[in-house]
Amino acid sequence: MEKYEVIVIGAGVAGSVLAGLLAGKGAAVLLVEKDEYAGKTTACGGLLDKPYFDRYVRDPAVMEQHITRNVFIMPWGTVGFDCDQVTVKRRVFDRYLSQKAARSGARLVTSTRALGYRVKSSGRVEVDLLDRRTRERYTVEAKIVAFADGPHTLGRHNPRFRQDHNRPFWAYAYAYEVEGIPFDSQEMRIYLDPQLAPWGYGWIFPNRYDSNIGVGTIQAEIDRGVRVKEKLYYFIETFELTAPLLKERRILDKKGGFIPMKLIRHFSDDSQVILGDAAGMVSPLFGAGIDYAIDAAEVCAPVILESLAKNDFSRQQLQQYDQGLEERLLKDLRKQEMVSRLIIHSLKIHQRFPIKLLAVIAFGSQYTRWDKMKILAHPLLGSPSVKANNPNVVLAHK
Ligand SMILES: Cc1cc2nc3c(=O)[nH]c(=O)nc-3n(C[C@H](O)[C@H](O)[C@H](O)COP(=O)(O)OP(=O)(O)OC[C@H]3O[C@@H](n4cnc5c(N)ncnc54)[C@H](O)[C@@H]3O)c2cc1C
Repeated sequence: MEKYEVIVIGAGVAGSVLAGLLAGKGAAVLLVEKDEYAGKTTACGGLLDKPYFDRYVRDPAVMEQHITRNVFIMPWGTVGFDCDQVTVKRRVFDRYLSQKAARSGARLVTSTRALGYRVKSSGRVEVDLLDRRTRERYTVEAKIVAFADGPHTLGRHNPRFRQDHNRPFWAYAYAYEVEGIPFDSQEMRIYLDPQLAPWGYGWIFPNRYDSNIGVGTIQAEIDRGVRVKEKLYYFIETFELTAPLLKERRILDKKGGFIPMKLIRHFSDDSQVILGDAAGMVSPLFGAGIDYAIDAAEVCAPVILESLAKNDFSRQQLQQYDQGLEERLLKDLRKQEMVSRLIIHSLKIHQRFPIKLLAVIAFGSQYTRWDKMKILAHPLLGSPSVKANNPNVVLAHK
């Protein structure tokens, strides 16, 4: 049986960054990816903060577009902010990160699915693998397993990492690539409108030569009968603000996927850690998870290295990872979770309320108190306008 110090399951962003950081410090790491190459089947808008991108990517060809302006378009008007972000294609970005991990010394096996795992009484972990090319099954052993295998993680079989009760808070989104860029290539647009989804949004993110477009909403809406794919076609063909931009464009790629927008309770156990989407580390307000996946890998790597140095893989030792996460991202995500619960409950008041609440909470500083009232009561009191003399803000369009 092949033996490693750490087996990382899933060569997405979380797994590849973790494997690279560990292998770079000399740990014996196996990085397992079910697809032919990392990112091949990942559905994503591909938008992340540039400082995160810059920390791991040297090759400028991996960046699709430098995004310097976020524009949020709502039924009563538009708000824009300066930003420093990039777009990537996950099939390029994840592949780059997984190969970088391999260059740092991790053993990367692709087309190999992890089927199951056991923590032995010795504390060692055995992971059963399937080589999808040869159909051969084999087992590998390690001191620690890291679950970075996305929403449908194998880690869910551990009661400490349970996520079934989180499912109502997940979202589903489609991300398509369409030819060309319909506006300024350094701008990304998010459309918040109850016609798309009472709680959810549509987006257009420019790539180098094409655009990533999509629509997503929460499971509660899907349970209520909202069909996300139909909403995406509405976004492309009918919605008055986007149809003129998208209607005639050829669709180049189609993908869809779950977004686990609720944290699980624990992130470590004896000989096990869990990170990224597998642990629900996604913004419950905007569904973004790439930055959090990187944060988690950066918090996790030194804890694992210390465990290896001390030869201690107990839950008590690995719990330092949970503690490190608290400051780095959990506080922020829990605050967002509270706001998101409030927003979901506001659906009971009126279909238009979630977007109004989000606008007041997320962009409130751009509006006077009276204009916030106008948003909440819209369209009764007319349209709000953003504060004058704010160079960061574009004016309302309606
Ligand atoms: C449509 C859509 C759009 C999104 N847009 C954005 C965005 O613009 N910006 C943003 O920040 N976030 C976005 N997200 C969320 C983001 O994609 C995730 O938060 C991010 O991918 C999490 O990274 P990860 O490494 O934890 O998991 P993943 O990216 O899911 O990686 C998991 C990896 O594990 C592999 N794997 C799974 N099971 C196994 C197994 N049993 N054995 C071996 N390998 C396995 C998978 O093939 C995959 O490569 C979007 C999500 C969706 C669905």
